Amino acid sequence: MKVCVIGTGYVGLVTGVCLSEIGHDVVCVDKEELKINMLLENKLPIYEPNLDKLLLKNIEGKRLVFSKDIASAIRSQDIIFISVGTPPLADGSADLRFVEEVAREIGNNLNGYKIIVNKSTVPIGSGDWVSMIINDNTPDNTDIEKKSKIKIGESYNKPHFDVVSNPEFLREGTAISDAFSPDRIVLGSSSKRAIDIMIELYKPIINQDFEPLDNIYNQMGKKPVPVITTDLVSAEMIKYAANSFLATKISFINEIANICEKAGADVKRVAHGIGLDKRIGERFLNAGIGWGGSCFPKDVTALTKIAAEYGITTQLLNAVINVNIQQRLKVVQKVQEVLKIVKGKSIGFLGLSFKPDTDDTRDAPAITIMNNLANLGAKVKAFDPIVKVAPDSLNAKVILCQNIDGIFMDSDLIILATEWEEFYKIDYKKLGNLMREKNIIDGRNFLEKVKMQELGYKYIGIGR
Ligand code: NAD
Repeated sequence: MKVCVIGTGYVGLVTGVCLSEIGHDVVCVDKEELKINMLLENKLPIYEPNLDKLLLKNIEGKRLVFSKDIASAIRSQDIIFISVGTPPLADGSADLRFVEEVAREIGNNLNGYKIIVNKSTVPIGSGDWVSMIINDNTPDNTDIEKKSKIKIGESYNKPHFDVVSNPEFLREGTAISDAFSPDRIVLGSSSKRAIDIMIELYKPIINQDFEPLDNIYNQMGKKPVPVITTDLVSAEMIKYAANSFLATKISFINEIANICEKAGADVKRVAHGIGLDKRIGERFLNAGIGWGGSCFPKDVTALTKIAAEYGITTQLLNAVINVNIQQRLKVVQKVQEVLKIVKGKSIGFLGLSFKPDTDDTRDAPAITIMNNLANLGAKVKAFDPIVKVAPDSLNAKVILCQNIDGIFMDSDLIILATEWEEFYKIDYKKLGNLMREKNIIDGRNFLEKVKMQELGYKYIGIGR
C-alpha cells in the first residue's frame, strides 16, 4: 500500500520504517529540513535501538524514501499518517498547531480518496476537527468564486477522505519490538471502508506472520494482535486513559514508597508482593524519582484540561500529577538531608534522558532536579551515554561530562537518575575513591543496596 508519514520524530520515523519493513511503499516527510537532510544521508536524527539497521535495509530495498516535498507526498500516497508533535501549551492543554498545519496541507492536496490517520495523541474530538479543516481547505472549497455560484440545495464537491484515529503506544527504547508486536492495535473511525483498509495495512503485524529479523524483533510466533475497532472519540480516549493509568500506577507506588521510607518497609519488596496479584500486575510499580518524558506529563495534564471543558474536576489525576511533582522535589530534600549545605557542593548525575535507551530529555525528572540543585548553588555535573548536547531546558551552569570518571571526581554525592544498563556495571569501588564523600542517591532503586553499602557508600534509595 502507498503510505505517507508526516512528521519524522520518534513515532513517525518508527512507523514509517516498520510499515516499509512489512512491505509497504512509504514516503516520510517533515518540515524540518535538517532532519530530512540527515535521513537522506541515511543518518538518524534520534536515538532508538536498532532503528538504524531497519532504516538502511528498507532504504536499500527502495520501499522507504524521505522527502521535503510534503505536497507531492500527500498527492502520491493513499494512506496519510499524521505523526507530528502535540506539545503542551502553557495551560497544559495540547497544542494542536502542527496537526492543524498538516490538516490544511492535506486539504490543499487532496486528489482522490485518501485515509487520514491520526497517530499523534490528540484531544477528544480532534478527528472531527481534522476532518473539518481538511474539508475547508480542499481546492474546491477554497475556490470562493466557484463556491459563490453554488445554488441553494446544491452542495459543492464533497472531498473524498476518511479520518481514522490510530493512537500509538510504542515506548521509546523498545519502539521497534513495540511496533511489530503491539499489545493491541486501536482503530477508530465511522468509516467501515477505512477500517478495512487499515486492517489490511497492518495484516502482517496482526497475524504476526512476517519474517523476523534476528536481534531486532524476535518475539514472533505469538498469537495474533488484538484489533480494537471503535468510534473516533473512543479511540482518542483510549490513548489518554492508557497513559493516565500508567502514570497513576507509578504515582501510587511512589506514594507507597514515601510511607515505606518513614515506616521502615522496603518498597521493592512491597511492589513485588502486590504485583504478583494478577489483578494488579508487576509492571509500572517501580518507585523512583517519578515519571517524565514527552508523553505522560503532557497527556495526563491534557486529559485534566479536556475533563475541565465538560465541567469535570479530575481529582484522582490531579493527585497523580501532584505526587509526581513532589517526588522530584523530594530528591532535593534528600540531598539537603545528606549534605546539609548544598551551596558549593559537587553533585554528579548519572543519566539525563527521561528513561534508558533513548536520547529524549523532554520533561525528564533528572533535569528538574539538576536545575533545582544548580539554583541552590551546587556544582552539578551530568553524564549520559547518549545525550551529549545540553537540552535547552537544562540550567546553563550544569556541566555535561563526556566520561563517567568526571561525575565521580571530587564529588560529594552521586545521583542515579536514569537506569541505563551501563550504570549497573560501573566500577563503583574504583570510582568511589575519586569522591570527596561516598554518598549515592539511587533515584531508580536500580543498584544493590547492600553491595553499595559494603563498598563504603552511604546509599539512599527511594522508599527503602
Ligand atoms: P517529535 O517531536 O519527536 O516529532 C514530531 C515531528 O513532526 C518533528 O520532526 C516535527 O518537525 C514534525 N512536524 C511538525 N509540524 C510539521 C508539519 N507541519 N509538517 C511536517 N512535519 C511537521 O514527536 P513524537 O515524540 O514523535 O510524537 C508525535 C506524536 O505521537 C505526539 O502526539 C505524541 O504525543 C505521540 N506519541 C509519542 C510517543 C513517544 O514515545 N514519543 C509515543 C506515543 C505517542
